[in-house]
Amino acid sequence: MVSLIVASRNSPLALRQVEEVFSLLPLIKYRLLPLSSYGDKHKNISLLDAPPPNIFTKELDEILLRRRADAAVHSAKDLPCPLPEGLTVLALLPAANPQDALVSQHNLPLRKLPHGAAVGTSSPLRRQELLSRRPDLQIVALRGNIGERLQKVDSGQLAAIVVAVCALQRLGLSDRITEILPFPTHPLQGHLAVVARTDRPDLRKIFQPLDVRRTWGRAALVGAGPGHPLLLTRQADIYLRQADIIFYDDLARDIAKTYSATKVYVGKRKGRQAYSQETINEKLYQAVKAGRKTVRLKGGDPFIFGRGGEELEYLQQRLVSVAVVPGITAALSAAALAQIPLTKRGQAASVALLSGHPAHKIKVPQTDTLVYYMAGTTLAAVSGKLLRSGLPPPAAAVCVLNASLPAQSIIRTTLRQLPSLKIKDPLILIVRRTAENDAEI
Ligand code: SAH
Repeated sequence: MVSLIVASRNSPLALRQVEEVFSLLPLIKYRLLPLSSYGDKHKNISLLDAPPPNIFTKELDEILLRRRADAAVHSAKDLPCPLPEGLTVLALLPAANPQDALVSQHNLPLRKLPHGAAVGTSSPLRRQELLSRRPDLQIVALRGNIGERLQKVDSGQLAAIVVAVCALQRLGLSDRITEILPFPTHPLQGHLAVVARTDRPDLRKIFQPLDVRRTWGRAALVGAGPGHPLLLTRQADIYLRQADIIFYDDLARDIAKTYSATKVYVGKRKGRQAYSQETINEKLYQAVKAGRKTVRLKGGDPFIFGRGGEELEYLQQRLVSVAVVPGITAALSAAALAQIPLTKRGQAASVALLSGHPAHKIKVPQTDTLVYYMAGTTLAAVSGKLLRSGLPPPAAAVCVLNASLPAQSIIRTTLRQLPSLKIKDPLILIVRRTAENDAEI
């Protein structure tokens, strides 16, 4: 019979959470290793002022990495993202109630609390929600275990506190709830997570039946390259062929078309966006949760001006594992197709990939070659900025429109002439800093 050593924080709630996990695994014996985390020891640290992300997990993580415990149980929302190297989430348990509750003196709901009342909370998100509904309230940083927090209301020190409903339920204190608050909460609130070292496949087998992610699909952020089908990587092609659903951008439209998966257009055309970034993130997450092999197909490379970083973070924070497939970014395809070496021995030893939009944020770093994306409506602003930063007016400027697509065109001009061009996105602007290279590019 297996007997595991399980690390947990020392609070009544944390210990209750361990019992909850193992009540689902009646055949598994375990011994508890209770610990005080940094956050538990330093109750003066306000969670309202961006504390370190591993404040409640660091000690437990170290114990696991030093092989003094087999697994640790956490509130999933306390996990740092990403987890420290060498650790993994073995199981994400089904969500208990994900909402927040108000516990107040005399059971007064939020709208009836006295003017200027002191309300305790431990999260900046909750503070913001409280103040948006009741700007007069005095918001106080709340720390300590649930019993200590409730004591602040009972003693009259605070008029009310906000705590997670699931914490009260787990401790049999649901009768203390005055009101359920309609606030959006952390995406993993209510979930428990079991963490262990990555080198314990034996444990994975034990905990897998508890893992809600068993039925999830998977996600891939895939770079489509500049548009020509032959400039798609073979790996991207494999992901696209296996996908159940593809969320694609405007510039990846023609590539998406050729695959049989369900296709959802989430791009931006002529400045009009089909969906907000938040909605796209959520659609990806819901598709994965519904068990679908989900591809987010992005023009060029997912991590160059594509907001791929935000999509990755959104999914990772929800414990979705994400594959990222690189793509040929527009700058590299434009340069190759216009036959402009971005670096050249003796002449150009550095390149910057830059955004030409919005005009007031255009940057001119000290690199030998500068490549601007999204400069379709800001050519005059880019040119002005480059000239003011000391580049010579006859310096060569090359615009590559629709690189790799049937409509590709290349315009070779100078910085001085750039503002008079009447051209539209998608285009890449390539500029060399050194005037002596003008003839060449
Ligand atoms: N992630 C993409 C960039 C997205 S931002 C990448 O790595 O390429 C969108 C900008 O990319 C456009 O405004 C344009 O500047 C550039 N772009 C994308 N495809 C292009 C193409 N085929 N030809 C020229 N520019 C392109």
